[in-house]
Amino acid sequence: HAQDKLVMRRRLRALGIPCPDWAHVTSRADLEAFGRRVGWPLVLKTPRGGYDGKGVRVVTGPDDARDWLDAVEAAGAGGTDGEHGTTMADGLLAEAMVGFTRELAVLVARSPSGQAAVWPVVETVQTDGICTEVLAPAPDLDPELASRASESALRIAGELGVTGVMAVELFETRDGDGRPAYLVNELAMRPHNSGHWTIDGSVTSQFEQHLRAVLDLPLGSTRSRARWTVMGNVLGGDYPELYATYRHLMARDPAMKFHLYGKDVRPGRKIGHVDVSGDDLDDLRARARHACDYLQGVITE
Ligand code: ADP
Repeated sequence: HAQDKLVMRRRLRALGIPCPDWAHVTSRADLEAFGRRVGWPLVLKTPRGGYDGKGVRVVTGPDDARDWLDAVEAAGAGGTDGEHGTTMADGLLAEAMVGFTRELAVLVARSPSGQAAVWPVVETVQTDGICTEVLAPAPDLDPELASRASESALRIAGELGVTGVMAVELFETRDGDGRPAYLVNELAMRPHNSGHWTIDGSVTSQFEQHLRAVLDLPLGSTRSRARWTVMGNVLGGDYPELYATYRHLMARDPAMKFHLYGKDVRPGRKIGHVDVSGDDLDDLRARARHACDYLQGVITE
């Protein structure tokens, strides 16, 4: 359900979880029919292998998807029901373009004996299809929406028999009466980028919780340590002098926490993150943004 977006959509629909309108597309005719129904542009996804927006494309008509449709046709489309081992041969996932107000995520943990825990709902800020910032908790979130989204995430974890940590990525929308609503975008069955803030901002980090869950130990408290925690993703830039910049930032902002993953630096790749907690959200965001820009070489002061 986390590896194949078609399998995930079918299962969530069966559970009655709100999702964007979607269709399984194996031909140009399928795509045209779905486009007529929901309108263009729409969002087309490869069911497997996508991450950070790769494998996701906004298409204004079938011509924008010619290469993918050709690949599907070449692979012999439409074979299986997709429940086991879907590949490009099983076609594409088309979704209506959601006019969301923002993106949210709910992180849950579940142990084999069925104990479950949920962290506060967070806002995930995306830039060019990549999550660049997480605000915990999501500012000004309607409490009723927060509890409905949290209940859905716990229910999904229970129904799918999840062991460990799972993130549910959401779009915040408005219903017909203008009230806040949500749609599920996708599931990630692992500690997730949207939960990195928990390392410093929560009593129990997602990584500790994952181990407690898989070992079937009692789960830890998901209470926040501060009013706000902001997580900023550090993306690889053209500036390889990470160590000097790191030292500078540690001295400049002693309350900030740095997590660099030791990965090879490639432009746009997530190579680390910073966490900073406190009472003034605007100040925290500015400090996290500065640190990430400095580490990426976007700014030098
Ligand atoms: P990935 O697996 O690469 O994370 P996602 O399915 O999460 O791909 O899509 C990446 C981003 O594309 C989302 O975070 C969102 O900004 C945008 N997106 C995805 N699906 C839709 C949709 N149906 N409507 C509008 N935007 C979407």
